[in-house]
Amino acid sequence: MRGMQENANFSNQMQQKTRVRFAPSPTGPLHIGGVRTALYNYLFARQQGGDFILRIEDTDSARFVPGAEEYIEETFDWLGLSFDESPAGGGKYGPYKQSHRKEIYKEYVRVLLDQGAAYVAFDTPEELEASRAAIPNFQYDASTREMMRNSLTLTREETQSLMDEGAQYVVRIKIDPNKDIIVNDLIRGEVVTHSSVLDDKVIYKSTDELPTYHLANVVDDHLMEITHVIRGEEWLPSAPLHVWLYQSLGWEESMPQFAHLPLLLKPEGNGKLSKRDGDRLGFPVFPLEWRDPVTGDLSSGYRESGYLPEAVINFLAFLGWNPGTEQEIFSLDELVGAFSFERCSKSGAKFDVEKAKWYNHQYILHTPDAVLAGLFTPLLQEKGVNAPPEKVTKVVGLVKERVHFVSELWDQSFFFFTAPTVYDEKTIRKRWKKETPAQMKRLIQLIREMDDFSAETQEKTVMGWIQDNQLHTGNIMNAYRLAIVGEGKGPHMFHITEVIGREETIARLQRATDLIPVPEDV
Ligand code: GLU
Repeated sequence: MRGMQENANFSNQMQQKTRVRFAPSPTGPLHIGGVRTALYNYLFARQQGGDFILRIEDTDSARFVPGAEEYIEETFDWLGLSFDESPAGGGKYGPYKQSHRKEIYKEYVRVLLDQGAAYVAFDTPEELEASRAAIPNFQYDASTREMMRNSLTLTREETQSLMDEGAQYVVRIKIDPNKDIIVNDLIRGEVVTHSSVLDDKVIYKSTDELPTYHLANVVDDHLMEITHVIRGEEWLPSAPLHVWLYQSLGWEESMPQFAHLPLLLKPEGNGKLSKRDGDRLGFPVFPLEWRDPVTGDLSSGYRESGYLPEAVINFLAFLGWNPGTEQEIFSLDELVGAFSFERCSKSGAKFDVEKAKWYNHQYILHTPDAVLAGLFTPLLQEKGVNAPPEKVTKVVGLVKERVHFVSELWDQSFFFFTAPTVYDEKTIRKRWKKETPAQMKRLIQLIREMDDFSAETQEKTVMGWIQDNQLHTGNIMNAYRLAIVGEGKGPHMFHITEVIGREETIARLQRATDLIPVPEDV
């Protein structure tokens, strides 16, 4: 009989469409750990052919920060992770902002009160403070609630008249002692909590007529038919209370599955990754740049620091999950296919800056040159360079293996766009010999006579000339590079000159021979 019952439940679940939500509170910029949470929700939803929902949990009006909600939407636009339902996009389970759902919550507060599963409490902050001072380890629960000023200790009439007079009150959930509360977690397994350790949490406040996070969260997950609650480990301690609320509201049957993701740890591995770690070690902890509306402080973002969204996604996917193979580069589609809770770790994931950079480098290598050129163009414009897109694309292709970020492209390629005006002293001392100016003049002649200016023709001609005349390859080529680049760096010489062209090459060689002093006899 029980087996059949379980089978029936199982097939019900099979038919149910997977629905997951990302439920941030707009209390500041989204932390990169929050982005990881959203990503895992997205991967699971897409894998199951389900829905991915954005719900803004803004019931704590005191902690509301202007701009935070827009920041969240902009982050996911940039990452290319789209929501099926959201405040901006709508959906049939809306509204998707808790501050717009006030009336809904009130209804369930009423249900809980009517059932005796919750009660009204009038204790003032001072009274609570006095209890805390008088009773060691005070918590508002079965052991203390009889001593407090609430609808359990007052008569029905007293309670009613206090409410009628407009006294401020809160509604508290009534947790029965000595019960085991079971949270079934897809990552952690069965987590059992003894109800006696929980307190009678406030679920509603008359001051702003709003529920607290716990009630709003549970009511919305139920009404929005959420099947899986995938969130950070910091919410695990709240889960028993949430289970209790589901039970109190008679919603056990449709209780979502929980999955609490491992914490993101400091690079050293001890403690939670904070903004301070980012500042200290020079990496962003926010997806986008954020200016604090109060202090004006600017925090760096992955986007502005030159990370590619695909790299951030790949990197974050690996902070708490691994595919169990050697493969490290995964497209978003591949992640959708490979993701599983079984391969999520229970222990915290150490944040590794070098790995983040490595991923970005890999994605720079994978990104088409023309796309990178598009990202590089604004930087070029800032430098006053207006180059044709084909040239920028070629340049990017020649230097991209040397950079981790688009922003580093300038340092590796400026000489493609501007001629040197100063020349590196060390290279001059080492490579600019007495005979060099004459050799450079001969080189100019050779360049003028070449049939075409392809890198191949140049290489053949110049190397042929060096060999035929038994010249010192190192000295010639380094002097040549000094004239073209201004220092001893850059990709293959003939690739540089091919891109800058014959006339520019000649002009630079000419200028170098004019400007670089010939050494005295030694
Ligand atoms: N509003 C909570 C947060 O800011 C949501 C936690 C949850 O996903 O249940 O993360």
